[in-house]
Parts: sequence; structure tokens; C-alpha cells
Amino acid sequence: MKKWTASRAPAGRVAYVNGRYLPHTGAGVHIEDRSLQLGDGIYEVAGISNGRLIDEEPHLDRLERSLREIGMAMPMERAALKLVMREMVRRNRVRDGLLYMQVSRGAVRRDHPIPDIVPRPTLIMTARAQDVEAGRKKLREGIAVITRPDQRWARRDIKTVQLLPNLLAKTDARKAGAYEAWLVDGEGFVTEGASTNAWIVDADNHVITRQLSHDILPGVTRRVILEAAAAAGQPIAERKFTVAEALKAREAFLTSATGAAIPVVKIDGTLIGDGMPGPLTRRVHMLYAQKAGIE
Ligand code: PLP
Repeated sequence: MKKWTASRAPAGRVAYVNGRYLPHTGAGVHIEDRSLQLGDGIYEVAGISNGRLIDEEPHLDRLERSLREIGMAMPMERAALKLVMREMVRRNRVRDGLLYMQVSRGAVRRDHPIPDIVPRPTLIMTARAQDVEAGRKKLREGIAVITRPDQRWARRDIKTVQLLPNLLAKTDARKAGAYEAWLVDGEGFVTEGASTNAWIVDADNHVITRQLSHDILPGVTRRVILEAAAAAGQPIAERKFTVAEALKAREAFLTSATGAAIPVVKIDGTLIGDGMPGPLTRRVHMLYAQKAGIE
């Protein structure tokens, strides 16, 4: 296995930590940070295309909502936050890639209850390039998913840094040669992927994705697709679907800021449709790309 250490990050990478732009190597947070000690933090991931942040406002809307749900305010004014985000893209010279933001409740003596005297929140950002050709290959050929029980907590609509169940499922997927794990609730319905929203196209060509609730993350890509589809007259049904239904689907795909709408051509080893990316997946991807202003 190739070893990666922070000290091997590409030369010139810059991290943002509480008001300072620092060399990625050695940039860090306080040892008593509540995100590190207790998972008491929220994060966001936005795509970067052609040096421009994608879906910036909806990502900030979701960040604000996630923070509000755990009793926190935005770490700075939205306009200032945007300046830092754009500065991170610029300083890291990212053309196509991702921007990560983490906000934690801050550093304070370790104790479970939220402290009465609220510490200064910790805000960190990192940016990195993504392999554009690898992304195009996924769109051309599709990817495989496996299914796993959804072992997460009951507020999956909040984008917290507590990702253990997600990363364990994703690791199982990678070990099985798949790209993603679709998580399944106690009644056999797919909730979403470990880091993506899940979609199918049924025999009647209905595009289906699970309705919003505490059970899934309100994906920004999902939201933008629904808006773009409504504007283009493409109906989308928001309802739950079972694994059995997904296995019989004409098409399946998943969505996230990291890859827009990626065709799913295999679920637990079963080919979906003819095993090739389908026309409705391509249409949804195109509607999204047009609306988000990417290639
Ligand atoms: N669901 C989960 C659990 C996620 O972690 C993500 C993205 O990180 C998504 C869905 C997709 O959301 P978005 O489209 O905002 O990237």
C-alpha cells in the first residue's frame, strides 16, 4: 500500500486555519479541539470547476443549517467566508477539484456537554485537485455499488464530521471492487450512499430519489438537479425505493459534489439494465452540468 503522510502533500499546498493561510504540511488544530475529541463539528465539500466554486450558495445554506441544528452560528459573515473560499482556490491553484470546510465548536477542556462559555469556533479549509479524466471515465463506463446496512445515527440530515459508519461501508465497497456503498434501512429501503445520494429509473422511466427527511443528507447536487429538472419539464419522483426495486431498475445513478451524476451499472454484482450508463442518467447529468455551469 502506498503511504501518504501530510508531509508528502504537494509542495505549495495551502491550508486555512482560523484566519491564517498556512503551508499544508504541519497545519493543525488544538489538541483539545472538540471536533477531534468528540466529533463536535460540521463540514461542507464544494466542487471547483475551471477555477470556480460550484453551487457556492446552496453549500453555504446547508453549512448554516447544519450549524444551526447543533446550536452553532456561522463562524464568520457569509461574504467573508466566500472571500476565504475563493482565496483558497486561488492560493492552491486548483482548476478542477474540491474545497473542504470544517467548522468545530472550538478548543476547550474536554467534557461532553456544550460549554456554557462558548469557545471560538475552529474553521479550517483545504483545497485539492481532482483527476478529471478519472471522473470522465466513471461517466462513460459507470461504477459498481454494494449494499450495506445503514448504521448511522437518526439525524443524517446534518452534515457532521462523525463519519465512521460511512467510511466503514465505503471501505467494504472498495474491498469489493465497488465505488460506493448504498446504505439500507431496517425495512429494506435504500437511504443513500455513504457519500452520495441514490437514484433509480424504473421500468416506466420514472426518475426516483428518496424524499428529504432526517434519514438522508439533503445533497446540494440533488437539490440543483431537482430545480434543473423541474425547469426542463423532467419529472422526478421523491420517494423511497427498496434494494429489490433497484436491482430491477432500468438505470441507477448517484449524485454528489465530487462527481455530479455518476451512472451505477452494477449493484451487489447484478447488472442494472443493460449494464451500460442509460439515457436518463445522461440527461440528468447534462441538466445538472448546464445549471451548475460545468462541462
Ligand atoms: N449523502 C451523503 C451521506 C454525503 O456525504 C454526501 C456528500 O458528501 C451526499 C449525500 C451528496 O451531497 P452533495 O451533493 O451535497 O455533495
